[in-house]
Amino acid sequence: MEKKTIDTMVGTLDKRMNRQLKQYLDICARCAICKDSCHQYVATGDLKYLPARRAELIREIYRKYFTKAGEFVPALYEARDPDETLMDELYESAYACTGCRRCMYFCPFSIDNAWVVAAAKGMLIAAGRGNEMLGQLADAALFKADNMDMFDEIIVGGFADVEKELEEETGRPIAIPVDKQGADILYVALAGSHSIKPAAIIFDAAGASWTLSKFEAANYGFFFGDPAKAKLIADRFMNEAKRLGVKEVVITECGHAYRVAEMFYEAWAKEKMPFTVRHILEVIDDYIKDGRIKVDPKAIKERVTYHDPCQIGRNGGIYEQPRDIVTAIAPDFADMTPNRQEQWCCGGGGGIVAMEEFNKVRLASGAKKVEQIKATGAKLLACPCENCRLQIEELSKVHDLGLRIVPVMELVAEALVPKAEHTAVS
Ligand code: SF4
Ligand code: SF4
Repeated sequence: MEKKTIDTMVGTLDKRMNRQLKQYLDICARCAICKDSCHQYVATGDLKYLPARRAELIREIYRKYFTKAGEFVPALYEARDPDETLMDELYESAYACTGCRRCMYFCPFSIDNAWVVAAAKGMLIAAGRGNEMLGQLADAALFKADNMDMFDEIIVGGFADVEKELEEETGRPIAIPVDKQGADILYVALAGSHSIKPAAIIFDAAGASWTLSKFEAANYGFFFGDPAKAKLIADRFMNEAKRLGVKEVVITECGHAYRVAEMFYEAWAKEKMPFTVRHILEVIDDYIKDGRIKVDPKAIKERVTYHDPCQIGRNGGIYEQPRDIVTAIAPDFADMTPNRQEQWCCGGGGGIVAMEEFNKVRLASGAKKVEQIKATGAKLLACPCENCRLQIEELSKVHDLGLRIVPVMELVAEALVPKAEHTAVS
């Protein structure tokens, strides 16, 4: 590889180097406990998917350029320059990683291989080897934001169409407010009406003061591995929230978008936001518990199970609210085993569903999730993340599971008891 490219990669790693990353790079004990925690390694047995091996590729470069021993006696200290073989392996192991952090949970030293992988993606991008599809999707989102004058009419017209559809479907007018100055909530949805309609029905039933963002929650800059782009993408709705003076930004049923807005954005922006950020399921859970909406406790007759999306559960810390919501409307709830912190990744996170080249490992790596779902005996799966839904829908077809996979808020919208009937339902 050209020295200039290597220097750029090493410079990128240097910029990301902090105590946390240094610690992860310094302390792996090579105990290989993490091998049994990664759905991709368990499914394939391929060394490049072993969590510690993914990080080891970066460690080899790190030792060469950031330690004296590695600089002077590279052969003895397993230090090396990146070459084409290392770059190919790095690309595959980094972009295949779904960032589920199950390996971190089981590692005795809590080494966050997904964090190391994020640094790897940065180095790949610096070397011109970032994933093309994710890069293009990130750029498309930025283009839309930069040319809002061109898209504004289409977007607002689209929301008016969703209002009409809602009226046809529910038999009553449900407003979708846009650009509402001083609303309490800015709701950030995904592209398409499926993540707008159930939320609008629930906000309406709760009498919430809300307004819909003109921007989408999805953030391919995050999956691509470019924090600068990821911040610019999130800027779109964060600036909108500031302009409208809302008290709260509520992110739709999406895992990574919630983490970006709640866990990373303020650090990237180096600024405290004048509003809170919550996931829509946290809001709905409060509405039910506060009595702002009433749901039929027997609305769902069939057995239902719940999938903990990694970015909402293990990485986002939201475990109980979705379960409380589902059990409030479905008496026959069967949790998967293991669940919560230990749940298996479905295999569809980290942007992998958008990268066709990883289809084989993606589908194979869903085997553990398929086992878990089958064991519950449920044919209805509540799932609050679009990437997980896409993956599990495909798994359901391939494994003939006959599953119906539904966003949690859609189940709630169907289970709502009209105000006039509140006293009739106990
Ligand atoms: S479990 Fe942790 S310490 Fe052990 S090999 Fe994996 S990353 Fe290294
Ligand atoms: S974060 Fe998940 S996909 Fe990535 S190495 Fe760890 S267990 Fe495997």
